[in-house]
Amino acid sequence: MKTHARVAVIGGGVVGCSVLYHLARAGWTDVVLLERSELTSGSTWHAAGGMHTINGDPNVAKLQEYTVRLYREIEAESGQEVGLHMTGGVMLAATPERFDWLKSIRAKGRYMGLQAELITPNEAAELFPLMDPKQFVGALYDEVEGHLDPSGTTHAYAKAARKRGAEIHRHTRVEELVQNEDLSWDVVTNQGTIRAEHVVNAGGLWAREVGRMVGLELPVLAMEHMYLLTEDMPEVAAFNAEKGREMLHAVDFDGELYLRQERGGMLMGTYEKACKPWSERETPWDFGHELLEPDIDRIAPSLEVGFRHFPAFETAGIKQIINGPFTFAPDGNPLVGPVKGLTGFWCACGVMAGFSQGGGVGLALANWITEGDPGFDVFGMDVARFGDWATLAYTNAKVRENYSRRFSIRFPNEELPAARDLRTTPLHDRWLGLGAQMGVSWGVESPLWFAPKGLADVFSWRRSVDHGHVAGEALAVRNGVGIAETSQFSKFFVEGEDAEAFLDRVLACRIPQPGRMTLAPMLKHDGKLIGDLTLARIDAETFFLAGSGAAEDFYLRWWFDQRGDQEDVEIAATGLGLCGLTIAGPKSREVLAACVAEDVSHEAFRFMAFREMDVGMAPCMVGRVSFTGDLGYEIWMPSELQRHVFDRLMEAGKPHGIKPFGARALNALRLEKNWGGWAREYRPIYGPLEAGLERFVAYDKPADFIGKAAALKEREAGGTYRLRAFRVAAKEADAIGDEPIWFEGAVRGWVTSGGFAHASGASMAMGYVPKEIADAPEGWEIEILGDRLPATLQPTPLFDPNGGRMRT
Ligand SMILES: Cc1cc2nc3c(=O)[nH]c(=O)nc-3n(C[C@H](O)[C@H](O)[C@H](O)COP(=O)(O)OP(=O)(O)OC[C@H]3O[C@@H](n4cnc5c(N)ncnc54)[C@H](O)[C@@H]3O)c2cc1C
Repeated sequence: MKTHARVAVIGGGVVGCSVLYHLARAGWTDVVLLERSELTSGSTWHAAGGMHTINGDPNVAKLQEYTVRLYREIEAESGQEVGLHMTGGVMLAATPERFDWLKSIRAKGRYMGLQAELITPNEAAELFPLMDPKQFVGALYDEVEGHLDPSGTTHAYAKAARKRGAEIHRHTRVEELVQNEDLSWDVVTNQGTIRAEHVVNAGGLWAREVGRMVGLELPVLAMEHMYLLTEDMPEVAAFNAEKGREMLHAVDFDGELYLRQERGGMLMGTYEKACKPWSERETPWDFGHELLEPDIDRIAPSLEVGFRHFPAFETAGIKQIINGPFTFAPDGNPLVGPVKGLTGFWCACGVMAGFSQGGGVGLALANWITEGDPGFDVFGMDVARFGDWATLAYTNAKVRENYSRRFSIRFPNEELPAARDLRTTPLHDRWLGLGAQMGVSWGVESPLWFAPKGLADVFSWRRSVDHGHVAGEALAVRNGVGIAETSQFSKFFVEGEDAEAFLDRVLACRIPQPGRMTLAPMLKHDGKLIGDLTLARIDAETFFLAGSGAAEDFYLRWWFDQRGDQEDVEIAATGLGLCGLTIAGPKSREVLAACVAEDVSHEAFRFMAFREMDVGMAPCMVGRVSFTGDLGYEIWMPSELQRHVFDRLMEAGKPHGIKPFGARALNALRLEKNWGGWAREYRPIYGPLEAGLERFVAYDKPADFIGKAAALKEREAGGTYRLRAFRVAAKEADAIGDEPIWFEGAVRGWVTSGGFAHASGASMAMGYVPKEIADAPEGWEIEILGDRLPATLQPTPLFDPNGGRMRT
């Protein structure tokens, strides 16, 4: 075994082999894969081998499409058959709500060029005669679906990687990982030690154990999963004979079942509600090529539905039931990328659909390692989307929920119930007392809207019971004053002698003077956005930043990587140690003035001013800025003082009719300002010009900020897309995000977010379209739930287009 390698990949399942192959394909051939047993000795060998492109996150769907397209290529390159059966598939809806969901999935696929067709139950039964069409209301047909041989596929990746110079060591178990002073890793195995610049955790069922070797508790959990194989079925033989081809794949969401042909019979798998985790705390090292005991009682409810929906199964004999474990992250998407603070340690784990996603995960990770960037928008599967708060117990609760809901509909206004009330602010009970319907982001609970007693969210694709109440909150802000929680934001202090120089380099904006704040786009080296923050300067060497809550570790990781060894810069996230409140609306100044001794008149405390002041008796930091686009203030305080500040503001606001507002009202308010947000409008695939953030980029500042050259190039060449706002002729359902934007009869763009802008009485959508057509006032349509609705460009904000309200 060699003693040095550029990258050591731990784990020879389908994911590790794909990572190895993609590294070698990128020209990094001094790479080695270490497998404790034979290749495929984790989840991979007993997988059903099904694959498809459909995914709720279009960016993940894109990587799935890549994975599926890759199979022919690796087969040819390796000379190893992958056993590809591209049968096509039908996704079946037994309820109108499910059919609405399929419409949204079809729409999402449309702008990515994925061809999937909505069909009637009878048309579906033509394609898949085992189903009883009377049980369904509609279906989606996708030709890019099928299955392959899990072992052949893994070996094809491995052989292709070897051909390009990569090495694979079987029966080599990694037992310890030690980081050296030069940040290289000593990978200690039972066959000796290899020194590597980079280590990839592709440990699959043992990903937690590999994580623990470097002090990480990764949020992954294995679940038992069963599928059954039937004896030969005459119906299958008849179909094969008549059509001259294999039976299609089918997914029956309402029965929580998937089906496909296996030899002369069928394979039927289920994501049963009564799911069961496997090896909840530790995975035994001696587990390998064995299966788990099947438990037919657990899957009986799904099978009952299956017999009703697919009557031929009732008489089919069951040949075998396979029960095997595979891993999930709390939200069901993979955990990919570098880990904050652990230079050279990479994750490629929690991949629950290795045959749909393994290729994309391998490509993105190899790009990331070799070029410093995944090359795609992988925010949805970035390991940084979970923080230390995602403990084993949290993961256990969320993974069970995710598994049992794998085929359930998640409505756009639906908050999931597992692992709730974990991270709460001191106001939690106060908000609940006021009727708050809570949402969760980055584990933190915060109000979405406020319901009168006895009312709660009714989940729907359409406007729901909250509509009028959210309108009331939005109007309270526009006409008087509203108050909201902001503790769920990510918040950071950056301090030190070199803090200014550091921020000048990592942020594209101009660095403000003490007592001032600014919007701060952050770019990657390729000039695309990697952050969208507000930056406030407290004094010469102390800065405060706030941004999207879900990006806390994502930002920290980036900053830790950019900080030079010799730089005197301390960077710390405050977590919930620092809480926040915002007041906004034309009366907000009077409310603040009543709680502070300072002069907060317009002249004394201007737009984008930032100052420390006591609010009531609490020392706070106050910034004059508001995401509502109105006159407003953000107030930050130590958590133990939040209740005090809240009470003072509520008391002072009483004469002005102060009203709490939640995230949904905030969304409505920022939409009528045409303002975007991180992870929706601002993502790592758009440049600042495309995203309309160029006015916050100091192209001419002396500092050579990260991404400057590329941003200048973008400004010169004009980029490809433009972010635009549209007013949509929507009636009962508003855009939410990922809908196609049609222009003159063709899909030309996609929605990033939308909703009803209550104070302006307009249904709004924001999205990206090619720059060539971006200023056309007419010719637009936005597809919502299968209907193409006329839309008009809204080039200036509906509310306060000149910004007079927030500035004066
Ligand atoms: C019953 C069942 C049906 C499934 N059906 C499908 C399907 O139809 N489609 C689909 O896409 N997916 C399916 N899956 C899921 C699929 O199997 C997984 O997504 C995939 O196998 C994950 O691969 P992996 O490489 O991440 O992990 P694994 O396959 O678990 O591989 C990890 C490897 O790492 C090795 N390893 C771990 N630690 C060390 C160490 N310290 N040193 C050296 N080696 C180490 C292990 O020995 C193992 O070989 C199914 C799973 C099950 C159980």
